[in-house]
Amino acid sequence: MSVRVRFAPSPTGYLHVGAARTALFNYLFAHHFDGTFILRSDDTDAERSTAAFQTDILEHMRWLGLAWDEGIEVGGPHGTYKQSDRYDRYREVAMQLLQEDRAYYSFVTPDQLNVFKQRARNAGTSPAYDGTLEPDPSQISRSMLEGGQATIRFRVPRPGITHFIDMVRGEMVFEHAQVDDFVIMRSDFTPTYHLASTVDDVDYGITHVIRGEDLLSSTPKHILLTEALGSDRATYGHLSLLMGPDGKKLSKRHGDTALSAYREAGYVPEAMNNYLALLGWSPGDDETIISVSEMIERFDGTSISRNPAVFDQGKLAWMNGVYIREMSDDDFIEVAQPRVEADLGRALTEEEIGSFAALTPLIKERTKLLSEIEGQARFAFVAPTTYDEASWSKVMETPEAAIALDGATAALESLENWSTEAIDEALRGVLEANEMSARKGLQPIRVAISGSTVSPPLFESIEILGKDETLERIRRARDLLT
Ligand code: GLU
Repeated sequence: MSVRVRFAPSPTGYLHVGAARTALFNYLFAHHFDGTFILRSDDTDAERSTAAFQTDILEHMRWLGLAWDEGIEVGGPHGTYKQSDRYDRYREVAMQLLQEDRAYYSFVTPDQLNVFKQRARNAGTSPAYDGTLEPDPSQISRSMLEGGQATIRFRVPRPGITHFIDMVRGEMVFEHAQVDDFVIMRSDFTPTYHLASTVDDVDYGITHVIRGEDLLSSTPKHILLTEALGSDRATYGHLSLLMGPDGKKLSKRHGDTALSAYREAGYVPEAMNNYLALLGWSPGDDETIISVSEMIERFDGTSISRNPAVFDQGKLAWMNGVYIREMSDDDFIEVAQPRVEADLGRALTEEEIGSFAALTPLIKERTKLLSEIEGQARFAFVAPTTYDEASWSKVMETPEAAIALDGATAALESLENWSTEAIDEALRGVLEANEMSARKGLQPIRVAISGSTVSPPLFESIEILGKDETLERIRRARDLLT
C-alpha cells in the first residue's frame, strides 16, 4: 500500500514554525516512501478562518519548497480539499452513525456536564461523559429535535481500551473510561474537528497521520470513529511540542513564530528546512548541515525524539549564515541585487554592478541574514551624509582621529597602484609612523568612508570605492572634526 500523508492546517492563523515542522516531516516521509503528500484545509471554524491566513499558509509552504501532490489549489480526486465544502459528506456520516446506534442525539447542557464531571471527580471515578444524562430515546420528540439544541455524540464502547503504537512515542493505551462520548455534530448541524478530520482521513486514504502532540488525546477518538466507519486505522505519530530556550512552550514571548517574519528577516528556505528538520529528528552521523534530498533519503519515520525540541533563534541564524556562505557568488547576487536596489530606490548602473560583484565575496562572508546585505553594501553606492552616532563619538571624537585621517589622505593621494595590497601597506605605514594601534587608527577611516564602524573589510572596500571617492569621503569627515 502506498504511503499517503497529509498536512491539515486550520486557516485560523499564520503558518508558524511548529506547523511548518509538521509539514516538513510529512513531506519528507511521503517522499522517502515515494508516497503522496496532501494539503487540506481544516476550515470548519468559520468565524476564525480567513482567506488571508489561508494565503499565508500556502505561500510559505511554497517558499519552503514543500510542494504537495494533492490538495488545495492543486486538486486531486477528492474535490477542493477544503472541509467547508464537505459538510454534506460529514452530515451523511453522522446520520449513518445515528442509524447504526454508534452515535446519539444529546441534550445534555454544558452546566449539567460540569456538575456531572465535578461529581465524578469528587467520587473518585472517571469524569468521562458516558451519556447517562440523556433522555430515554423513546422520549425524544420531534419538537425536541427541531428545537435546535441537540448535538450528536459518538457512543464510545464501554468498557474498552484503545491502544496503538505511536511512531514517536511507542505504545499508547487509552481506557475508554477516560474518553468522553464526544460531540461529532454541533447543535447548529456543523461537524466538529473530530468528525471532519477523521472522515477526511478515511476518505482520502491517509495511511499515516503525523501531527503535533497536542492532538494525542484526540487519537483514540479518531481511531474509534474510523473503525466505526468500517475502515482500517492509520498509523499515528505525534511530534513533541517546540519549546523556547527557557524550556517553556514556544510562543511569541520567545520572538517571532510566523514563517513570514523569518522570510522578511532574511532567512533562506534551505536553512529554515534544515533547522526545522533537526527539531526532534536525528539524521544520524551527528550531521547538522543536510540538504532536503539527503533528508528524504534518511527520513523513514524512525529516530524522531519524543522529547520537546528547543527552537533557538541563535542557532537558526548561525545555520542561515552557513547557507548564505555556501551560495555561489552568482546566486548571491541574484538575491542581493534586488535588495540593494530597493534600498537605494533605483537600479544599479553597469559600473555599480561591477563594484557589487567585487564586493560580493566580502559581504557574503559576513552575512547571517539577507536583510543585512543592503546595510553592508550601501556605502559602495552612496557616500555617507550622516554618520552613525555611536560610531562617531567613539572613534571620531578622539585625539587620534584627525591624525589618522590626515595621514591616510597623504598616503593614499600619492598611491600609484590602487590595489588592496598597496592600500593595506600604505595605511599600515600611517599607523607605524604615528605609533597607533589598528583599532585607533583605522576605525576613523572606516567611519569616514562607510558612516559606521561596521562595514566590510576596509582595504578591499577602499579599493572598490576608488581613489577619488575615498579621498573625497575622508576629506568630508575630516572637515567635520573640530
Ligand atoms: N487542523 C488541525 C490543526 O491545525 C490539525 C489536524 C490534524 O492534523 O489532525 O491543529
